[in-house]
Parts: sequence; structure tokens; C-alpha cells
Amino acid sequence: MIDLRSDTVTLPTPEMRQAMAAASVGDDVYGEDPSVKSLEARTAELLGKEDAVYVPSGTMSNQIALRSHTEPGDMAIMDRSAHMVIKEGGGAAAWSGVTVWRVSGEDGTFGPDAITEALGVRHPFDAPHHAPLPRLVCVEQTHNEGGGVVWSQQALTSVTDAARANGLATHMDGARLWHAAAASGIEERVHAAPFDTVSVCFSKGLGAPVGSALAGRRALIDRARRFKQMMGGGLRQAGILAAAALHALEHHRVRLADDVRRARTFAEALADIEGVAVDLARVQSNIVRFRLTSMPAGDFALRCHTEGVHMLPSGRYGMRAVMHLGIADADLTAALEVVRRVLGSR
Ligand SMILES: *Cc1c(COP(=O)(O)O)cnc(C)c1O
Repeated sequence: MIDLRSDTVTLPTPEMRQAMAAASVGDDVYGEDPSVKSLEARTAELLGKEDAVYVPSGTMSNQIALRSHTEPGDMAIMDRSAHMVIKEGGGAAAWSGVTVWRVSGEDGTFGPDAITEALGVRHPFDAPHHAPLPRLVCVEQTHNEGGGVVWSQQALTSVTDAARANGLATHMDGARLWHAAAASGIEERVHAAPFDTVSVCFSKGLGAPVGSALAGRRALIDRARRFKQMMGGGLRQAGILAAAALHALEHHRVRLADDVRRARTFAEALADIEGVAVDLARVQSNIVRFRLTSMPAGDFALRCHTEGVHMLPSGRYGMRAVMHLGIADADLTAALEVVRRVLGSR
């Protein structure tokens, strides 16, 4: 099976398993796991932040960030298709009691005007305590639902400047910040610099089996550690898992550029197939979104699956294919053959 559903399907390599088996470990709830400490230090260094905390998932990382920045009754501003809005089980309401202001951005990106709009216009006769208290702006880099679109550095700073000018904190959901860096050629720490907190995943394209991290100022990460414990994220000999993430940072981060290149090549080949429409300008990292013009996505996905290519439908005619560690050039050639066959093109 050529599995293009997601970059979460990657499996640990033999070398990664060796690193896990050899990891020195301790009880991380007591702060005694050397591998977790190394991973946290290395992540903080790569992201240019004072400290980082290792957590079981990107969802927990985003949720403890949200909880750390806010109090119940506050408001957080983010795109309506953000992972934090549509894929975290309603956590913003459940864990933080936060009102989410949903921006209708473009492929998940938005400008400073969206913040101005969310804050509204103040009038001399406003009741002072009517509105939820605006506190935080969240940005997703790359934007998953937007098709892996990469925020330019200028777009990032124009939003964080507007946030700061209005006294708002900023959080980056950088689950695929590694891919943004591979695509833009701009270091992760530069993309991360204007944000108070940054969440990154080790379990996506980097290929570790488990884990994410939240980075930021020491005092804020300290507060986040409390919420990690509260949500049940305290792990004991977590170094076995942290060792996989360290291995991934060391050995797999460099190859993310291959995924970006492969997404481009795959998208360009798809664009030449009758029955497929691709907006090549939106193919910016390791995700390829395309539309079918002659077959519903569900039927197409099922038939491709029968022929050994697994891709996810999205909406009635939309499809998604994601490049990752487990996909080689030959897989893509084979996948394109299947797509052509299923669509009866040639
Ligand atoms: C995958 C992902 C997350 C976190 O997902 P987990 O499965 O909880 O690790 C967060 N944000 C984005 C944009 C993601 O793609």
C-alpha cells in the first residue's frame, strides 16, 4: 500500500528503534529523565526560545498553550479552519473556557485587519465589561486545512505586530513548522521569533512515533508544565519516546526538503491528468490538495485504495495526498499510474 493519507502514518526506522532502545531514562514527572531534558533543550535551541516542554501530542501542546495564555472568559483569535478549532475536540471551550473568534482567512492565513475586526471599534458609551476579553492570537504554520500553505515571514510579523500593538499574546501552532522552514529556506527560529509560544510536532513528517513540544519564555513554559500535569500528560520514563524525537531532529529534519520537492512533482504530474484540477500555487510544502472534475472523491478514493494507493477525500470532490518519510519517488510514479487508470485517462 502506498499510503499518502497523512505524514502521521510514518513508522520508526530501525535506526530510530535502536536509539529508543539505547536511551537513558528516568522519571520525567520528577524532572529526572535525561533524554527528555536533552530533547527539550535541543527544541528550545532550534526554536530560539528559553525553554520547551515535551508533551504526548500536538493537541495537548496547543491546549496547554491556550490555557497558559488565558483565563476562562477570555477570547482567542484564530482562523476558522485551524486545527485548534476543528480537530481538538472542542478543547478551547472544555479546558480553557475560552471564546474562539473565527477569522475567515485565505487558506488559513489572514492579515492584521482580521485582528482589528475581532477587537471591534470602541465607543465613548461602551459598557466596559460586555465583551469577552481579547487575549491571544493563534497562527498555524504550515496551515493544514489550507493545503500546507506557508505563511511568509512578512505575513507572520504583520499579524504579531498588530497583536502586540493591542496587548495580545501570540501562539504559533507549528505542527509543521519544520516543513515551512524546508519550503521557505527560513530557519525555524526566525519564523518562531515573533511568537510568545510555538508548538511543534515530532510525529508528523519528522517520523517519530509520539510527541510534540511547546516552547517559549521560561515562566510561561513553567505554567504550561502545570497544565500538562493537570491534563494527564505527565509521563514517567518518557525518554524512550524523546530519544525517537531527538533522532528525528538529527536525521530526518534535513530530508523534509525531499518531501516538499516530491509534493511539487506529484502536483505537477496530477495537473496533466484529465479529470484532475490542481491549484499549483497552493502546493507550497508537503501537502497536495486536488479536485476531481469527473468523479466524486469518495468513489475515487475507494478505487485507488483497491489498487494500492491510499489517499483521503476532503469534501465532495476534494482529495489530499501528503508526502513523508515512507514515500519514495518510485511510489509516486506508481501512484500516478493508478490515478490515471482509475480516471480512465489515456
Ligand atoms: C497534527 C496537528 C496537530 C497536533 O496533532 P496531534 O495528532 O495531536 O499530535 C496540531 N496542529 C496541526 C496543524 C496539525 O496538523
